[in-house]
Amino acid sequence: MKSGRITKVSGPLVVAEGLENANMADVVRVGEQRLIGEILTMTGGTASIQVYEETSGLGPGTVVETTGAPLSVELGPGMIENIYDGIQRPLEEIMKMVGSNITRGVEVPALSRSKKWDFKATAKVGDKVIGGDVIGTVQETSVVLHKIMVPNGLSGKIKSISSGSYTVEDVVATLTLDNGETKELTMIQRWPVRVGRPYKKKFPPTAPLCSGQRIIDTMFPIAKGGTAAVPGPFGSGKTVVQHQLAKWSDVDIVVYIGCGERGNEMTDVLREFPELQDPRTGESLMKRTVLIANTSDMPVAAREASIYTGITIAEYFRDMGYAVAVIADSTSRWAEALREMSGRLEEMPGEEGYPAYLASRLAQFYERAGVVSTMGREERVGSLTAVGAVSPPGGDLSEPVSQGTMRIVKVFWSLDASLAYRRHFPAINWLNSYSLYLSSMRDWFNENIGRDFMDNRDRAMSMLQEEAELNEIVQLVGKDSLGAGDQLTLETAKMIREDFLQQNAFMETDSYSSYDRQAKLLGLILKYDKLCRDAIKKGADLQPLFSLSARDRIGRAKSVDANEYVAAYADIDKLMEQEIDAIAMKGGAE
Ligand code: ADP
Repeated sequence: MKSGRITKVSGPLVVAEGLENANMADVVRVGEQRLIGEILTMTGGTASIQVYEETSGLGPGTVVETTGAPLSVELGPGMIENIYDGIQRPLEEIMKMVGSNITRGVEVPALSRSKKWDFKATAKVGDKVIGGDVIGTVQETSVVLHKIMVPNGLSGKIKSISSGSYTVEDVVATLTLDNGETKELTMIQRWPVRVGRPYKKKFPPTAPLCSGQRIIDTMFPIAKGGTAAVPGPFGSGKTVVQHQLAKWSDVDIVVYIGCGERGNEMTDVLREFPELQDPRTGESLMKRTVLIANTSDMPVAAREASIYTGITIAEYFRDMGYAVAVIADSTSRWAEALREMSGRLEEMPGEEGYPAYLASRLAQFYERAGVVSTMGREERVGSLTAVGAVSPPGGDLSEPVSQGTMRIVKVFWSLDASLAYRRHFPAINWLNSYSLYLSSMRDWFNENIGRDFMDNRDRAMSMLQEEAELNEIVQLVGKDSLGAGDQLTLETAKMIREDFLQQNAFMETDSYSSYDRQAKLLGLILKYDKLCRDAIKKGADLQPLFSLSARDRIGRAKSVDANEYVAAYADIDKLMEQEIDAIAMKGGAE
């Protein structure tokens, strides 16, 4: 008998005896309502179990049954456009059944059992296949072609396969396995969430994820397959940054994991996200999105599980050869769930009460990002990019979750409340953000954007740093004490900040900027700087240089229509040369 009895209940933690036959990480069913739980630790037949639902009403003696299987997700057509809770229960389906207050113990499968999908076989009878091979496709939404893959670990010959209209549980193909047995294949696979899905090989990321946000793409780019963190003090624009990433990133699939922010913020996401439009297709962004949501009334344990559920779904799409982005908001709330469970387990607390394994758990999440060649015979490359928001209390980045995250991720977009207060958006602080992908992506930039792109980027960054130093001097002795060269540096840095880094997410022409456009705009600003420097050497005055009409036009260059920027920027370039030439000639003549 694989069942035991509860001896103790402590919030979401339940201790049960008599589970000798169970294993660590097994999913269990608790009580008459068959609440879902997971075994965290085992000593002999005594198991500590985290329960993913409200535990009130449970008490000593209640029956606990193990299912003998670890916490798993269902993978197959029907995930896109869906909104799941932390253990992959479809929220909308449940709400239809029981209303908005989810009753305990409701069981609804993650993938609809009645919906029919149009399966197009791409493999044929007699083909030899192994795990990861694509045997057919389903057009899941207007933008996502779902590839039906042979589950990992299987190997054999296709005995039968046929295109047609099927539910996820219908048999679409049969295999004669290498040992002679026949295996029926449906469109569902299951995978344990805490185990990363296998791949053939991992590559170092070399190409950027293009987000269309200038400060991100040019200054602190993230690679496809890379990892990034974005800390967000309240009101600093964290939500807008995440929406912009979800909206504009050149990836095929977005998995958004909301780990329950304070109060009703998660419900905001549930409401807002489906309303966002995919600018490329004009359709709802949901057509390429899977949402994992933990509303604030859900127990902490489900929050703990949600980032694994999300990243496993992301890996599955990566395995199809797609570029996938996972956005987790916020990992701080997830870590708090971890802390609460650890406290109830009476584990030895580490820094600020977080368990000692906090850092390794964070690493386990971000480690699942990467560029990989996928399983199967065919050569497919997929990528999984992971972006985690952290919300440190009081904005203090020295706390354990921020520190642990910063040690792992390679990109850090430091959202800054004081920039947001000055209405500088995106409020990413250029002085303490970083990207460690710059050198590994240099070749890609040289080949695809232009030879001078990275040099310009580095020059712009060093000017911003110089500006910060000069500002300290200015505060002491005033601007007039600076030499002409330094005054020009301040002026150019101001242009970099205002005309380049500032970007209005809500202005149609400015919300997205292609890499080419970013490169050209920054090129203009730096050319202005260079021409002015040359003119100053020839004796030109600063004031006329600072009030060129070309400069004015650079200031408005970001709001030029996307179809017209090439001609417009070339125009500005020409005008700038003429104007500065004229001033330099005058300066030289005097
Ligand atoms: P948070 O989620 O950090 O509390 P939000 O993302 O909601 O903050 O941003 C707060 C406000 O800041 C937004 O309502 C908007 O007015 C402004 N904002 C943030 N980012 C931008 C941006 N890129 N462009 C224009 N306005 C922005």
